[in-house]
Amino acid sequence: MQWESVIGLELHVQLATRSKIFSGAANRFGARANTQACAVDLGLPGVLPVANEEVIRMAVKFGLAVDANIAKRSVFARKNYFYPDLPKGYQISQYELPIVSAGRIQIRDNGTVREIGITRAHLEEDAGKSVHEGFPGFTGIDLNRAGAPLIEIVSEPELRSAGEAVAYMKKIHSLVRYLEISDGNMQEGSFRCDANVSVRPEGETRLGTRAEIKNINSFRFVEQAINYEISRQIEHIEAGNEVVQETRLFDPDKNETRSMRTKEEANDYRYFPDPDLPPVVIDEDYIETVREQLPELPEQKRRRFMEAYGLSEYDSGYLVASKDTADYFEAAVTVAPGQAKPVANWIMGELGAALNRDNLGISAGKVSADMLAGLLMRIADGTISNNIAKQVFEAMWQGAGSADDIIEKQGLKQVTDTGEIGRLVDEAIAENSAQVQQYRDSPPEKRAKLIGYFVGQVMKKSRGKANPKQVNELLTERLT
Ligand code: ADP
Ligand code: MG
Repeated sequence: MQWESVIGLELHVQLATRSKIFSGAANRFGARANTQACAVDLGLPGVLPVANEEVIRMAVKFGLAVDANIAKRSVFARKNYFYPDLPKGYQISQYELPIVSAGRIQIRDNGTVREIGITRAHLEEDAGKSVHEGFPGFTGIDLNRAGAPLIEIVSEPELRSAGEAVAYMKKIHSLVRYLEISDGNMQEGSFRCDANVSVRPEGETRLGTRAEIKNINSFRFVEQAINYEISRQIEHIEAGNEVVQETRLFDPDKNETRSMRTKEEANDYRYFPDPDLPPVVIDEDYIETVREQLPELPEQKRRRFMEAYGLSEYDSGYLVASKDTADYFEAAVTVAPGQAKPVANWIMGELGAALNRDNLGISAGKVSADMLAGLLMRIADGTISNNIAKQVFEAMWQGAGSADDIIEKQGLKQVTDTGEIGRLVDEAIAENSAQVQQYRDSPPEKRAKLIGYFVGQVMKKSRGKANPKQVNELLTERLT
């Protein structure tokens, strides 16, 4: 039987506000445990939450960026459950009336473009953290994260493969960074994913029973967890069993998902509107003001890069996928005007490889946009060849200074002196009499190929510095 996989993602994105969603305590990562939770976050009796306006603005920004409906009136609700990291006994979230609903976003996977529906995006507070390390036989509780603002973005069950799920997740990740509403830091838990996965026979329109894999914190793990879960469900069904609706955990060390608990239903949470918080009421003017503040979004930027710089759809898509990369590109082109294509090539090529090798983000790399531009200018004006440029790039990466410094210090300037190149050409001809004979015995169409051998010899003699065009010309002249 052919199976189709169905995936819906819930992304928890921590909003980059200065203070928490309902209190004035700092919203920062990494402070000493329990130093950033105030009476409101601790759920002490007699305190009242007050909604942080910045959180509302950020949610509206997100909603506008995904063409969603922005609710003029949305309501905070209590989601009741007990857990040691939730001192109030309930989490303030949004349930029936979320601030953002019915949005959509385009994803590209393997060259195909698809539009994925965003069911809703609602605001909620984060819970604290259980800490096990350093407390043998006990569990420590750190409430610094309690009350941190989250937007939970829920997709329609419209993703059809692990690859599409990752493409969707990356797209949202890039978008929240563009909008500057989250730092998206996955190591610190600012961007977490729950993946809902089910399978059904190809052609079936009803949804199969799903499992929800909780709290996956990297793109790679999301892909692995979903692929594992798809195979597990198919094997399970083909062996004559039924999938049960449950919550599972992904274990990256074993690359498998394990059952955690059977799934709770919404009515287990006894949601009701929080009587301590008034509904969030916003008007058209407010929405329009936020719309005017929207930055250029990835799709718009992609189109502009194609038009303004003559880049291909692929190149511009690559560059705009992260805002840092797009900014780096534009900074480099400002210093090296007319070099858009080479800049793009180097970002995707040498620079990308070096960043990968050292596991660095583009803004943390050792070759700044200015430095790369400086290097490409020297290729453009013929001072160095592309090959030598790679050597210079490596030296820049090692901290040897600017391209000009390195070219000067290491004597890498391209040799364009015909006399000097001529000497090397003569040497190469004298040292390779057999190849010279072969060349002379060959018809013109074969000669074009054979000449490459001599070019290689001369370039080697010049340690890559001879101007290849001149080498070619002189060889053609003197071999005949
Ligand atoms: P809950 O409130 O229990 O988390 P929702 O109905 O809000 O459940 O759905 C949560 C996520 O699960 C959504 O992203 C939705 O697209 C996805 N989903 C729902 N049903 C299925 C299914 N049968 N297969 C895969 N994903 C599903
Ligand atoms: Mg859920």
